[in-house]
Amino acid sequence: MNLTVRILIGMVAGLLIGLVTQWLDLSETNFWKVYVMQGAIDAGGQIFIKSLKMMVVPLVLVSLICGAASLGASGSIGRLGGKTIGLYLVTTAIAVTLALSLALVVDPGIGAGDADNMSTEEFQAEEVPSVKDTLINIFPDNPIQAMADGRMLQVIVFALLFGLSLSRSEGIGQRVLRLFKDINEILMKLITMLIALAPYGVFCLMAKLGLIVGWSEITKLMTYFLTVTAVLLIHATVTYPTLLWFLARVNPITYLKKMREPMMVAFSTSSSGATMPVTLRTVENRLGVSNNVASFAVPLGATINMDGTAIMQGVATVFIAQFFGIQLGVNDYLMVILTATLASIGTAAVPGVGIIMLTMVLTQVGLPVEGIALILGVDRLLDMMRTAVNVAGDGMVATTVASSEGMLDRDIFSDPDAGRVIESRAPARKAETVG
Ligand code: ASP
Repeated sequence: MNLTVRILIGMVAGLLIGLVTQWLDLSETNFWKVYVMQGAIDAGGQIFIKSLKMMVVPLVLVSLICGAASLGASGSIGRLGGKTIGLYLVTTAIAVTLALSLALVVDPGIGAGDADNMSTEEFQAEEVPSVKDTLINIFPDNPIQAMADGRMLQVIVFALLFGLSLSRSEGIGQRVLRLFKDINEILMKLITMLIALAPYGVFCLMAKLGLIVGWSEITKLMTYFLTVTAVLLIHATVTYPTLLWFLARVNPITYLKKMREPMMVAFSTSSSGATMPVTLRTVENRLGVSNNVASFAVPLGATINMDGTAIMQGVATVFIAQFFGIQLGVNDYLMVILTATLASIGTAAVPGVGIIMLTMVLTQVGLPVEGIALILGVDRLLDMMRTAVNVAGDGMVATTVASSEGMLDRDIFSDPDAGRVIESRAPARKAETVG
């Protein structure tokens, strides 16, 4: 059975088991609830996320060193970096503009009730780092520490510089580069093995979600919830395909089909950082983006590109303004577009950070930060959906930049079997076999 279908079955089965357990309302000492759901299944989910995260630092380091070494030799690194970062910012600005437009039509905050009916959960605004600090923090003072702490941008800077100097070290550089290329191959094999386990991993994660998902909050905030969901869908199925068609001249349906696996992993883990290894493998092996572009664009995108998060922030801003009866003008909306785009750069690629960064957007336009408490109850599910869109955006930009640089293998892109993970011992052409 195809992996996408197996992951989907894992998700649905997990969610059902979690929901049924929640509905059964078992006591806190019940064997099933304590040992199976909160024991084995919870452990399975955590082990899956940890195994993916385990791959992130080695993969960014090794893969980007290989990519930067080739780019350094061709002298195209500056142009490629500019295009990639530019496209990431433009797509995020489009995302938040779409979100504001639809939210202003739907008016999710009007008639949403008064503060008394809403979640009374206290919201403590966390301090958001300044732009200056964010910039300084991109540069590592100790690369080993950066790797140990999983600071992706710092690892990216170190790997880029190391790769560039490799490309300038002639004989020695070539020898070391060969070693890194071999290690990269091995890491990719390891990811292929982990992806084959994804159906079980997502089963555990979704079962846990089913156990805790709160329906009453969703019903209360239905208009907000549906508006965010609709904009996420429009961005993934209209904006990305249109850009792919016009800028990269590739079939967007093929793109979406091949991105289903990383999107489902992103949905289940709510972390584009943890999903990064799966995205990178898909972008290189399934979409045919050369390692030179993918090794740079995908980790960078996982760190700074959050279109889905910006969409939630756009709709949330309109919701909170309407809820408190505060009028925002055109200038305020332009400020929201700018701040949400910048906030997306500073948002860590882990669950639930987008809602914290919303503080920055609300403060910019003078809205009460406590308004976040109103939407916290439904953020768990929205986080899953927006993370899937964040990841789809990373793949879209990588594909577009690769196409513009002549670094997209169109045969691989259009081959439905290219890079597919197949769990069988039978030899498979162009597909990677696991097991
Ligand atoms: N969970 C999102 C991500 O990892 C970030 C967020 O919006 O909270 O991409």
